[in-house]
Amino acid sequence: MDHIKLLILGSGPAGYTAAIYAGRSGLTPVLYEGLQPGGQLTTTTEVENFPGFPEGIDANDLMDRQRQQAERFGCEIRSAMAVRTDLSARPYHIWFDDGSEVTCDTLIIATGASAKYLGLSDEEKYRGQGVSACATCDGFFYRKKTVAVVGGGDTACEEASYLAGLASKVYLIVRKPYLRATQIMQDRVLQNPKIEVLFETNTLGLFGENGVEGAHVVFRKGEADERRYDLPIDGFFLAIGHKPNSDIFRPWVQTDETGYILTEGDSPRTGVPGVFAAGDVADPHYRQAVVAAGSGAKAAIEAERYLATL
Ligand code: NDP
Repeated sequence: MDHIKLLILGSGPAGYTAAIYAGRSGLTPVLYEGLQPGGQLTTTTEVENFPGFPEGIDANDLMDRQRQQAERFGCEIRSAMAVRTDLSARPYHIWFDDGSEVTCDTLIIATGASAKYLGLSDEEKYRGQGVSACATCDGFFYRKKTVAVVGGGDTACEEASYLAGLASKVYLIVRKPYLRATQIMQDRVLQNPKIEVLFETNTLGLFGENGVEGAHVVFRKGEADERRYDLPIDGFFLAIGHKPNSDIFRPWVQTDETGYILTEGDSPRTGVPGVFAAGDVADPHYRQAVVAAGSGAKAAIEAERYLATL
């Protein structure tokens, strides 16, 4: 079985930055890309707040550059997803979805977070046939069509605004009587004539013979003026937050109730010696590419120090 000195799981800004730092320290890290090479950022278009790119940069381009930079310093990049771990004792043991397994001395967990779904069986039924959690990935298929976005945060407003540039009509389904998004994002949505916000509305299910043709929704569920009706739509986009990808580490590392990995103070150290967590998998607060990159750097420095003690 392959033994790796420094293993990195995840290919977002945290994983690649850790790889760049560890590579420059001569540690020849191995990085597994996971399900979504380049991470969550690749589901957006333009990144305007990553320092060093005054004109903004295409998200895929940014991640390609990070990958190249990691490879330049000797990082080996592999394509598989970790499905099981045993972190009870060193060497730590990781199993992958392609049937392979490795052991390692240090591990940097940079597996990020994934979009949440409402939990309706229809979401599964129509996934890829009208249900999506990424407007920038799938919006193209809904040009001049009618779509709905669920959520009232910044992501939902951003996705609704993006879709309004393609679709003929966008419903924003918000369960509360107000939006949670920042004022500038709210203004953008409320002033867009193509977007109609449906406050105090929940989705009960989806219907359609050939993919999504509509949603069963309810206004003011449980109130005296409750009203159930069908909303004709071609696409249903979820934008209701994210879940950290920490399940396979949970028996070994501590997490909060949502699943975010708990680390010691400001450091990326988990309770397991030589196991570090970086990026969104351990960050319920900021969830920014540049913050993830910074925590990846910290994790690599900690891993290097730990390896020096072995
Ligand atoms: P948030 O947690 O901020 O918002 C989630 C939204 O989904 C809320 O409106 C919430 O409703 C709603 N929601 C959650 N569960 C359900 C459910 N089961 N049914 C219906 N609605 C539901 O997540 P975001 O992804 O929007 O944002 C995450 C973080 O990233 C935030 O800090 C945000 O500011 C930041 N961000 C910043 C951006 C930018 O600056 N350009 C872009 C995108 C995100 P409720 O309000 O009722 O809880």
